[in-house]
Amino acid sequence: MHPREKSVPNWFPKAYKIALLIFGLFFLALPLGGDDSALVTVDSQTFLKQNRTPAGPAPGKFSAAVDRLLAQMSIKEKIGQMTQLEIGMITDGKDRNIAINPEKLHKAVGEYGVGSIINVKDEALPSQRWREILRAIQDEAKKTRLQIPVLYGIDSIHGANYVADSTLFPQPLAMAATWNPELMLGDSQITAAETRKAGIPWVFSPVLDAGRQPLWPRLWETFGEDTYLARVMAVATVRGYEGADLSSPTSVSASLKHYIGYSFPTTGGDRSPALIPENTLREYFLPIFAAGLQAGAHTVMVNSSEINGIPGHANGYLLKDVLRGELNLQGFVVSDWMDIKKLVSVHHIAASEKEATRIAVLAGIDMSMVPSDYSFSNLLLELVQEGKVPLSRIDEAVRRILTVKFELGLFDDSLRGVDSQTVEGSPQSRALSLEAARESITLLRNVGHTLPLSKTAHILVTGPDANSLIPLNNGWTYTWQGDREDAYPNDRATILKAIQQKIGADHVDYVPGTTLDKEIDIAKAAEAASKADAVVVCIGEWAYAETPGNIADLSLPTAQLDLVQRILETKKPIILVLTEGRPRIIRSVADSAQAIVMAYNPGNEGGHAIADILFGDVNPSGKLPITYPRWPNQLFTYDHKRFEGDDSPEVKSLHAPQFEFGFGLSYTTFAYSDLQVTNTSSSGTPGIHVEVKVKNTGGREGKEVVELFLSQRFASMTPPVKRLKRFAKISLRPGEERRISFELMPEDLSFIGGDNKPVVEPGVFDVSVGGFTQSFEWK
Ligand code: BGC
Repeated sequence: MHPREKSVPNWFPKAYKIALLIFGLFFLALPLGGDDSALVTVDSQTFLKQNRTPAGPAPGKFSAAVDRLLAQMSIKEKIGQMTQLEIGMITDGKDRNIAINPEKLHKAVGEYGVGSIINVKDEALPSQRWREILRAIQDEAKKTRLQIPVLYGIDSIHGANYVADSTLFPQPLAMAATWNPELMLGDSQITAAETRKAGIPWVFSPVLDAGRQPLWPRLWETFGEDTYLARVMAVATVRGYEGADLSSPTSVSASLKHYIGYSFPTTGGDRSPALIPENTLREYFLPIFAAGLQAGAHTVMVNSSEINGIPGHANGYLLKDVLRGELNLQGFVVSDWMDIKKLVSVHHIAASEKEATRIAVLAGIDMSMVPSDYSFSNLLLELVQEGKVPLSRIDEAVRRILTVKFELGLFDDSLRGVDSQTVEGSPQSRALSLEAARESITLLRNVGHTLPLSKTAHILVTGPDANSLIPLNNGWTYTWQGDREDAYPNDRATILKAIQQKIGADHVDYVPGTTLDKEIDIAKAAEAASKADAVVVCIGEWAYAETPGNIADLSLPTAQLDLVQRILETKKPIILVLTEGRPRIIRSVADSAQAIVMAYNPGNEGGHAIADILFGDVNPSGKLPITYPRWPNQLFTYDHKRFEGDDSPEVKSLHAPQFEFGFGLSYTTFAYSDLQVTNTSSSGTPGIHVEVKVKNTGGREGKEVVELFLSQRFASMTPPVKRLKRFAKISLRPGEERRISFELMPEDLSFIGGDNKPVVEPGVFDVSVGGFTQSFEWK
């Protein structure tokens, strides 16, 4: 056992609740027989109601203290608060060998009074090292005239991934595939506690960009293509991070990013321009940020790119009128990496950095992630002295930043959290990560019950992703790109190792076959396949983050497809296991493989989760949070507008994706019946009551995601074919039947009209659940 795994962490009550919920589903199943309510996990809307934002500190609780401080601050000190630098500005060395450079630290915190420092110098640090570094930073801050604590921020994207000994969870796209917000809540509670234990009170997460462009290299950081599913996951994440009290030693402030439209570049390339009409922005993109803010998020990070010709960092309308005016952001807005400078070098909307600084600060940027020099502080000081940026704007930004520092409790204890009982990477936390990975994995194809495999079978494991933790995790894992094998722990199972542990190494052959895009020994793999009972081919992607992850072709590299083709020729049962951050096209082999398992990036426990599914110890229950495309030039989301000719089978088959959004198989079968849709308006409460029966008609216990879609037949703006409106993940024993009910409210029938405002138009709506459809009329 790991030495740090002994004591019970103080988030345990929360995690215990989650574990109880998860395992309760199982244990309660045994004695309770026909009781209808016990086994039903809360539906998505009940989850949202149960996770409303707590009231928090009384409005204005810290305003007097903030005003007192502001009144004492020089302009330079104020601008210091608006400045964010990277850790290399206060340290020497790289990777784990960094050391605080006292002169650099003094310059940053003592002289410039910088408000915030971020991230790693290339590689994750052990928690203890973080505490030492944070102590040095806060000690320096205590030596300053006003002793304002520094707000350290970090990219905790799937767990505290820059804390070397932390728990890593499946990446957000995989978390969305669980369709289980309770798991997301538990994941983010643990992430918060482990980040704060390192002395760090602020995470640059969650990514609330709608994942509607599959080429985009950050798709796996999102909760997928659907606005509603992403909204539910956004609330779960923010509530998990921020908890009931931001100043608790186990809470961190969230930063919703990247506001807004970053995820929808026309080319698919990272940080490339997007064209998004305002009604589309408001229909599909904005509600996710709105949900994160309603959940209480304290900070927002801005889109590095541009939409409709206006860079995110210069868009005063979106940053002020919409984000503050409409979505009611109370906290502060931080720029993304170097993005004020990029208004000159990339966007060409300003000829000098000084002009860019003026534009960005006036547009609503409160803090600049500069991050590697003092240009922002120097230039903004000049701008204020020249009267080009009013002092009132500086005061406004600093007031917001100081308020968040007060709410985090940093003025009471700038190292709050370092003494908490949290245990990094504890067995309980890793168990939750394993559970999440198991619930995310999505069975896409299983011809003739190829899966689960027998544990006495002789298995060939092949493919580039079979024996590495890197594709299980992807970017933001110990390093930015996540691709440095030496940064990973050596006691976690790859897919190969997990299979060997499960069925015995004697039953497993391994031949890599290919790298990601080059043949190694395909002939040898085929030879070994011909002697095996079944072949598990582990294909997909490696690790990447941001622009280095750009690709020009969504198709899976030819070498990997060749490997699959060659194995197919042996006529042995073949199971494709996909570990990938975006849906790489597999059309040429998908219809021939007996089974396909989508594993996304399931994290460090993912090897075991995959083996559990392959050999039937766990019944798969993940569902796709994205549309899996079949053709590189047929990329669209499930909630697209109608296509002419879709009533003809030929045209429809052209449009058919490889796998639909929301799709996923189980080792048992579920039958839906008795869909009833009642308009309750006549009884006084306007709304729609939906009921459906779901029965487990197969031979083993399983979890099913009940998905409710709504479509309007005719509307003044072309209606999408359907939209997800509710879901519930339930567990059913063989033969067991449940009645699930959902309530739709009038706002669920609304769409963004031609005037960019929500409208509910009367007409006929179709509700579909589990393949059945019922209509109602809304007057
Ligand atoms: C990314 C952000 C990240 C920031 C700090 C940027 O390049 O776009 O998502 O939070 O760096 O690491």
